Amino acid sequence: MSRDESQQTLHLLCLAESTSKRNRLEACAGALTFAPGEGPDWHTSTAPNTDRALAILNAGWVDAAVIDLEAEQAEHFLQQARDAGIVTPLLVVTADSETSTVTPLLAAGADEFLPADELTPLLLERSLRLCTRDQAVDSRLEYLAQHDMLTGLPNARLFERQLDLALHTAERHGRCMALMCVHLDAFQERVRKGGQDAAEALLTQSARRLRALLRRSDLVARSHNEEFLLLLECSAELSDLALTASRILETLAEDEDSGKGSCASIGIAVFPHSSSVPRQLLEHARMALNQVRDAGGNDFRLYDEALEVVSHRRVLMERALPGAIQRSEFSVRFQPRFDLRTRSITAAEVLLRWNSPDFGAVSPDQFIPAAESTGAINRIGTWVLEQAVRAGRRWLDAGHRLRLAVNVSAGQFRGGEFADDLARLLKIHGLPAELLELELTERVFVANVAEHRDLFTSLTDLGVGLAVDDFGTGYSALAYLRHFPVHALKIDRTFIAPLPASEDDSAIVRAIIALGHALDLRVVAEGVDDQAQIRFLEAIGCDEIQGFLVGRPMTAEELNDLLTGQDAASDAWPA
Ligand code: C2E
Ligand code: CA
Ligand code: CA
Repeated sequence: MSRDESQQTLHLLCLAESTSKRNRLEACAGALTFAPGEGPDWHTSTAPNTDRALAILNAGWVDAAVIDLEAEQAEHFLQQARDAGIVTPLLVVTADSETSTVTPLLAAGADEFLPADELTPLLLERSLRLCTRDQAVDSRLEYLAQHDMLTGLPNARLFERQLDLALHTAERHGRCMALMCVHLDAFQERVRKGGQDAAEALLTQSARRLRALLRRSDLVARSHNEEFLLLLECSAELSDLALTASRILETLAEDEDSGKGSCASIGIAVFPHSSSVPRQLLEHARMALNQVRDAGGNDFRLYDEALEVVSHRRVLMERALPGAIQRSEFSVRFQPRFDLRTRSITAAEVLLRWNSPDFGAVSPDQFIPAAESTGAINRIGTWVLEQAVRAGRRWLDAGHRLRLAVNVSAGQFRGGEFADDLARLLKIHGLPAELLELELTERVFVANVAEHRDLFTSLTDLGVGLAVDDFGTGYSALAYLRHFPVHALKIDRTFIAPLPASEDDSAIVRAIIALGHALDLRVVAEGVDDQAQIRFLEAIGCDEIQGFLVGRPMTAEELNDLLTGQDAASDAWPA
């Protein structure tokens, strides 16, 4: 049957207990389609029993149902349907029109009754029209009460109801949901400059963009003035969250003509991490939003303090990092390390620098974590190692046996080729392995005891040194020192800075040096920046020092001058 697409088609469900009743209903309903007038085209289906009828009604695509059952059975069915939250108009065929017959059925939830002996297509049609029209009016009113008229999005009231339900479902299925409060930073300015019309245009445009960006299952609502609420499913590790938030900021910023680029701020709270109570979740997202706005807006922030705060800037950095090598934005600096007894330079730590056209000079403390989380650290780390090996070779050629210390992240071991690649690099440039030292944090050693033991052994077999970086900050478990072929400990600068005044730190540093020497390791103090520290470290037998006082991170040329000067003078460090 070909149906005119422009004509409204409504679905009618018929339920009857006997074949004869079912035939009568179907005949009546079938005649509806040919009823004269402008009415809808009724499409009829029949349910074989009450269970099936309930399932069909629950699925939500039926516009009305007409049932012809024994009074008691009908009453029970109506109750079940209404208890299940089914709001579809339900019409009941009754034996007669006596009050005693009809009242209990209406009370149980029937919308209309049709006395069996009066049942004609015309009566059925009229009753259906009334019921569905009432329903249409009801749902229009309901719609108005729950939606924002300007954007057509659900309002805060509906959102809160949807939120309740969505969180229940998420809990049952063990899913994580992100609640985002999105504030249009440019809104008030838009009102001032362009008036209400311009501001409304911004709102409708933003609503459209948000809806277009998100999945159909995500919730989008306009809560008030310039604020939208979103609820989206996110991965348990929240790895996708920052990207989604960045995309939202970008979408809202597109062809934004305010010129300033400050467009939106987003506060995020995650279910169940930051709360599993809907209202609290909303509160937390707002708190995070306020933080973003206080910090100048145009960014996003996660509420939970325990979670890493990943900012928009961080995401942009993550995207820029992989291409930074090709664009020659990286360079390295060398910070000398001095032997405390001979006062001569023993080694230099290779420190990476990123000069980005977008972010300026970025501290490695900021971009290394970003490179680690995207895996870009692998190629960047290899690049640094190559710079170190080349530099070491150049100094060797110039007559300086300078050890180069390179920071290595755990992510660089992924893929299992680290040791082979390093061996190849040393061979190509002809650098003796003992002139290279790898600095790894305690965290890397401890977390990878089982996994990386072979790797560390093959590195020492190769002849490169291993140093524990930031010693003292990571773990109190020292057992790993016995398991790994470590050569040096670098005491973290947080222990060195309070020396010698702080008794606690003096005791700790003394203990670390004693421990290091007992295990036959060299001990290096990091972050030395005054003379009193040097005297103290000398007195307690520390082997080497590194710090701004004796040498800042410098270019290869600058270090070269220092090395040359050292050969001429007896006292090397610039005091
Ligand atoms: P780190 O390994 O602890 O490196 C020492 C940091 O302390 C350097 O900061 C250095 O400039 C700074 N420093 C040295 N002496 C002093 C001092 O006397 N006082 C103070 N306040 N600071 C001092 P930088 O260069 O900003 O590097 C920061 C961190 O970034 C490094 O900490 C290291 O963890 C990481 N990093 C740097 N380059 C690389 C690299 O090539 N690969 C990896 N994976 N990480 C790197
Ligand atoms: Ca280091
Ligand atoms: Ca360090």
